[in-house]
Amino acid sequence: MNSLWKEVDAAQYTTLLQQRVYSSRLLGSDPSLVLHGGGNTSVKITEPDVFGVDREILYVKGSGADLAVIDEQGFTPLELDHVRRLASLDRLSDPDMVRELAAHCIRPGAPAASIEAILHAIIPHRFVDHTHADAIVSLTNTANGAKRIAEIYGDDVLVIPYVMPGFALAKACAEALKNASPNIKGIVLLHHGIFSFGDSAKESYGNMIALVSRAEEYLVARGAWSVVGSAVPPTSPPNVAAIARLRHTISQWARRPMIMRMFSDPRSLSFARRPDVATLAQQGPSTPDHIIRTKRAPLIGRDAEGYVLEYDRYFEHCSARVSTPLTALDPAPRIVIDPDFGICAAGRTVREADIVGDIYAHTIDNILRSTALGGCVPLTEQELFEIEYWDLEQAKLRSSGAPPALTGEIAVVTGAASGIGRACVAALLARGAVVAGIDVNPDVSAMHDRPEYLGITCDLTDDTAVAHALSTIVQRYGGIDMLVANAGIFPPAIKLAELRASELQRTMYVNSDSAFSLMQQCYPMLRLAPRYGRIVIVGSRNVPAPGPGVAAYSASKAALTQLARVAALEWGADGIRVNVVHPHGIFDTGIWKDGILEQRAEQYGMTVAQYKKRNVLGVEVVSRDVAELVAELCGPAFAKITGAQIPIDGGNDRVI
Ligand code: ZN
Repeated sequence: MNSLWKEVDAAQYTTLLQQRVYSSRLLGSDPSLVLHGGGNTSVKITEPDVFGVDREILYVKGSGADLAVIDEQGFTPLELDHVRRLASLDRLSDPDMVRELAAHCIRPGAPAASIEAILHAIIPHRFVDHTHADAIVSLTNTANGAKRIAEIYGDDVLVIPYVMPGFALAKACAEALKNASPNIKGIVLLHHGIFSFGDSAKESYGNMIALVSRAEEYLVARGAWSVVGSAVPPTSPPNVAAIARLRHTISQWARRPMIMRMFSDPRSLSFARRPDVATLAQQGPSTPDHIIRTKRAPLIGRDAEGYVLEYDRYFEHCSARVSTPLTALDPAPRIVIDPDFGICAAGRTVREADIVGDIYAHTIDNILRSTALGGCVPLTEQELFEIEYWDLEQAKLRSSGAPPALTGEIAVVTGAASGIGRACVAALLARGAVVAGIDVNPDVSAMHDRPEYLGITCDLTDDTAVAHALSTIVQRYGGIDMLVANAGIFPPAIKLAELRASELQRTMYVNSDSAFSLMQQCYPMLRLAPRYGRIVIVGSRNVPAPGPGVAAYSASKAALTQLARVAALEWGADGIRVNVVHPHGIFDTGIWKDGILEQRAEQYGMTVAQYKKRNVLGVEVVSRDVAELVAELCGPAFAKITGAQIPIDGGNDRVI
């Protein structure tokens, strides 16, 4: 374990609170210490109130904040004396604790304080750091964890047997601290993690690194630290429909569309293929609060129904032993372990699925380390249940307001690098969808730098390349729910008498045949879309009202429209909706470059501005308008509409 402390960086953080920010970020940036919102830190600062009277303030991490990126606003300032006194109560219910902490916060609008605020308050040192270090949980999730900790640390740490976090844990620590040596550098919480403290940020952080290093050295000396597997990844890609079917089942049980990430690296595959994986994987999370992300156990193989039955049993059994009536959470697994797939992680968003995957990667290591020490002994089912159903833990997952309409769903957009396609990508991302943009133009790959977007350079007339692209998308996100077939070419205007058959065929091939082939290849995934599949075809005004000189283009878009209508008929039984938009006069696309727009306006004796609004409503229609319609067609407002053709052109007298 290396200290990341750098004097030159630390010197930039001058106040006590800034020092607190600096070392919190150091802890947060090491995933072997804390993962995604885990752990918490605090600092006690004497400050004058509005009357100039000094008082002690406990700045403690806000609930749900991430130490890796925390800033001063991420800490909740509490009246230290009051919070410390709370530990002298015999009992304090969760609602009372939450109310007391909120009522004694001195900054309106500050985040709710960490559920460990009282524990931070009773530790006398100025700086307090708490992590769920891998090495510590690997050691304490064993049969003789307390003995091992005593062997490693002697009197340097206080050891607390497992107690539910929150008031009960603060109370247990307050009692134990009364008789503790004044020289202790930390507290080890069995099955949970470790606290370190000190009178400066540097001292507390240094104690954390030193204490965790000693645990790591103990594991290294016993051959129980490096546990990375060496399975060889499969040479042939997995069956995409099988992946989509698994995601479909998980989404059904989760009662919402879920993103599913696959991890087929050597570590994940080695674990998934161990003969004893079913036993090992039942060991539960490394530290209690991971349960809200990963659930208690993963699904082994693909028997999701069996998993759900077992979850129901767990809920019935454990909820009967608590005093308050509880409603079951969704029973869907968040981790699936499969010898072909490796490890799959499910979440409502890509970010959530990635968090689940990251946490489980560390869980695997920790289970294997405990196993190497003679066997993993996790918390009991009942103890884990009480964390999973603890309202203060679930509160961390709650987001404010309803999620965007297409959250958890995956869209494919072709011709995504420019014009209408590019706008469709943006409109779908804005509605919460994950989007894969496909284009022959390699610019498509760098269009958005975020995990919800994947740009793939691919020629749609190459079926093998398309199959490879779709396989990449399904492996990345778990399925395909929406297809926006927008890619197409617009050949130069030419009269029928001069149109060469080869040019007609080429246009048909790109605009119609390849779009059909893509629809066909997406079909097995679309029929497994949790909210039913959707296809939106970008047609053209030339379908209902063709113009002279554009025979090849009009014919190709008409053929595509007819294919879409048959698809609406045939695939309606699978719940797949197929609709067509017919844009016209969209001048912010590639077709209208190089002065064509100016020429055309001149032909009609108009200015460019007048020409752009040459429609019934007298409005300019842009790519974004088309994209908004396309995205809406994928959403709930059009849930009962298929086979429709919608002009988007400001009103065209020939179409009306
Ligand atoms: Zn903790």
